Amino acid sequence: MQEKKIAVLGAGISGLSVAYYLKRKGFTVNVYEKSGRAGGLIDTEKKNDYLLDKGIISGIETTSLIPELVDELGLRDSFLYAGEKANLKQAYIGGRIYDLSMNPNNLLKFPLFTYKTKLRFFFEPFLPRTSRGEEVSVAEFVKKRLGKEFLDYVIEPFSAEVYAGDPKKLNIKAAYPKLFKLEQDYGSIIKGFKKAPFEQKKRDELEGSGRLFSFKQGMSQLTESLASNLNLRINYLHDILKISHKGEQFELLVNKKGDTRVELFDFVISTLPAGVLSDAIVDIDNSLAETLDKVEYAPLTQVYVSYLKQDLEISTKGYTVLIPAIENREVLNITHVSGLFEGRCPGDRHLFSVMMGGNRNGDLTAIDQKEINKKAIATLSEIFKAKDKPVFVTAKSWKKGVPQYGGEYFQLKDKIEKFEKENSGIFISGNFSGGVSIGDSILNAYKTSERVARFIQQN
Ligand SMILES: Cc1cc2nc3c(=O)[nH]c(=O)nc-3n(C[C@H](O)[C@H](O)[C@H](O)COP(=O)(O)OP(=O)(O)OC[C@H]3O[C@@H](n4cnc5c(N)ncnc54)[C@H](O)[C@@H]3O)c2cc1C
Repeated sequence: MQEKKIAVLGAGISGLSVAYYLKRKGFTVNVYEKSGRAGGLIDTEKKNDYLLDKGIISGIETTSLIPELVDELGLRDSFLYAGEKANLKQAYIGGRIYDLSMNPNNLLKFPLFTYKTKLRFFFEPFLPRTSRGEEVSVAEFVKKRLGKEFLDYVIEPFSAEVYAGDPKKLNIKAAYPKLFKLEQDYGSIIKGFKKAPFEQKKRDELEGSGRLFSFKQGMSQLTESLASNLNLRINYLHDILKISHKGEQFELLVNKKGDTRVELFDFVISTLPAGVLSDAIVDIDNSLAETLDKVEYAPLTQVYVSYLKQDLEISTKGYTVLIPAIENREVLNITHVSGLFEGRCPGDRHLFSVMMGGNRNGDLTAIDQKEINKKAIATLSEIFKAKDKPVFVTAKSWKKGVPQYGGEYFQLKDKIEKFEKENSGIFISGNFSGGVSIGDSILNAYKTSERVARFIQQN
């Protein structure tokens, strides 16, 4: 057992996973969390016979670390995969529902594409590779290669689902690194999609199945298990104010219910949100603090709506309907949650999650919540042709929801790298770099734990 004192800041999925992996390596870790619970953005609530995953409805098994965690935590019996239907996304455009596929052959059949767009699929392989991807937005990249219709009907609504983001502000290399790499490796997205699955000789050993998952008791079952089953030392209601140097060690200025005290550590791993970390390190690196402070987070509002099954028939082939920005609605997408996973609502009902706002519409919290609910219900009942009113409605908003991977992303990454070199012993992780999904957060946490362990062994 190592003697070094290690602090992990933040008990969201990133912080809990780093702490878990370090504990698995035999280190003793203290976690500091501002709120009174573990999980951060992962937050399941039981309300009136409903199981409501606030915000995060599901994860995608993007890494094999997820099933490994599930087994190690003894959660296999509670683990749920969504059915095949979950792979099909649909889009609501001009009063009709269309299937959306990322397979180029199927996309060619998309009925709203004009012949000009379809022709672009054949010419795209002859376009030159994108140079200086760091400076190219998602919108620019997609428009240049496959045209505006492809952007409007496919990439924009996907970007609203993943980032609640605007493709004009997201950077292609930062927000969609795999798509960008396909273009760079094969000279074309279309060629890449066709050839990559057969040519990848050595697949990433941490790659996952890509299936959608959750747990019988909701997504919080994962974070609660990480926190409790492993007996992690989590200091709740501890607000980290400052990180500073104290000789070879680091001082954490911590506020607990109005009492401020200092704690000493050999290593500090931050998974704090960008703005919070900015305040904490401003005295040791003003330049990184400024860049962190500029990281934009898209606001989001989620309205859960439930109907009696007799009042609404599910007419869609998939579980998620995306609504492109060209439709001019506040709603970004609608997920039939009770179709995705069992036990989300009483058996005679359907439960839907309606995601609204995002960078497309801005912060909806200034608008009366009843108005927002009305808009969510109106769009939902229009799509699914509801015969009567819903039986249950509840909503939650995030002023700072999903970090946006925009033009400053690479500058931020460089500054983080420089900071970690100059302040060796402090490590920065969290969802503003390396991916926003649950899978990416776990993979980044794992990689951070490997870096920390290597560093400790070498020093
Ligand atoms: C509305 C919404 C829906 C989403 N839906 C999905 C989805 O369906 N699937 C998916 O894969 N991803 C989804 N995401 C993205 C994903 O959930 C997040 O990127 C991920 O949960 C981030 O985890 P994290 O631990 O890095 O950050 P957080 O969960 O934000 O954790 C940070 C922790 O730090 C704590 N903290 C803050 N300040 C301090 C301080 N001063 N001192 C101590 N602690 C502090 C916070 O309380 C929090 O617990 C969604 C995000 C949002 C906002």
